[in-house]
Amino acid sequence: MEGMSVGRARGIELRLNWSVFIIAVLVAWSLADTVFPEYEAGRSAEAYWIVGAVTSAAFFASLVAHELGHSIVALREGVEVKSITLWLFGGVAQLGSEPETPGASFRIAIAGPAVSAACGVGGVIAGAMLDGLPRIALLWFGVMNLFLMLFNLLPAFPLDGGRIYQAWQWQRTGDARMATEKAALLGLAIGAVLVGLGVLQMLFSGLVAGIWLMLIGWFIREAARAELRQATVGERLSKITVSQVMTSNPTTVSAHLSVSEFIEAEFFGGRHAAYPVTDASGEVTGLVTLRRLRSIPADHAGLQTLGELATPIADIVTLEPSALVAEVLERVGNIGDNRALVFEKGDLVGIVSPSDLARLIAYVELAVPIDRAVLDDQVLPG
Ligand SMILES: [Zn+2]
Repeated sequence: MEGMSVGRARGIELRLNWSVFIIAVLVAWSLADTVFPEYEAGRSAEAYWIVGAVTSAAFFASLVAHELGHSIVALREGVEVKSITLWLFGGVAQLGSEPETPGASFRIAIAGPAVSAACGVGGVIAGAMLDGLPRIALLWFGVMNLFLMLFNLLPAFPLDGGRIYQAWQWQRTGDARMATEKAALLGLAIGAVLVGLGVLQMLFSGLVAGIWLMLIGWFIREAARAELRQATVGERLSKITVSQVMTSNPTTVSAHLSVSEFIEAEFFGGRHAAYPVTDASGEVTGLVTLRRLRSIPADHAGLQTLGELATPIADIVTLEPSALVAEVLERVGNIGDNRALVFEKGDLVGIVSPSDLARLIAYVELAVPIDRAVLDDQVLPG
């Protein structure tokens, strides 16, 4: 999910998807134009709009608070949190790794709805004690948060309720992957039910509300399918070693070559997008990528050497050939231009590139026909 970065807190990046701006304006508009005039008539349009805008902003802040709830507990459980993104259907906290125990998984999952419950109850109580527009605004804020909590507790992976269900199954069976599969299948089924309800609602009442339910159902199904796929593929990947996927004996380049000398030498023969850089004694000192070289102004190309431009070896992921691919994915990520270098007894024996990993994942997906059948059909949990 793409999003514009708007800030950072405790190393967690906060991102806003463009759809948030549209929804925030729509929320403010529906409050100012419909909700407030209906429950608190006789105020000026300016008052409706100002309170509407503040309430809308507060509501989106409470979505961030929900995700921060997940994130803070995740950090406490030793799980890295990369970013929080707000988008059309709320917030998503992107975790850098999986929780290690069902208990940790449960605590991370329940923390978000707990924050929503607190916002909900707080909003309702504060609203009940006030009068006028603030009363309506706070009651609306509270009720929306309570609704958000209930919705997130649906046992449909990847919603929080699905994660709680997954943690419960994991605790019960001791098998994390099986639990994920079960939770994802339940997510597929509940997503289908929501799509069905959306169709009914479209037929019998409003078109817009029906479409909204259908979209949410569809989104849950897509996300559940992705989780299922990740669990299945992850299982296969967990048995594959780096030596089986790396590009062996990578072409190295000398650190003292200038960029223009390098371009001349590799122009026709060059088959790679990244080159380990070696010093005079043949030792690998870093890694240089074509992407990095392209960022050099043309008039500097004759002056700067590959050694100066290379990412130092200390900043590069290095692995043994016997390491598992899962470790590469965890440490490098399968996107971007990060690569891992493979050393055996101090000698460079291979390089793992994003395209090596993408190809491997494609082959693994091809090799799991039974699981693919599960993914392609609508399978209900047994
Ligand atoms: Zn949540």
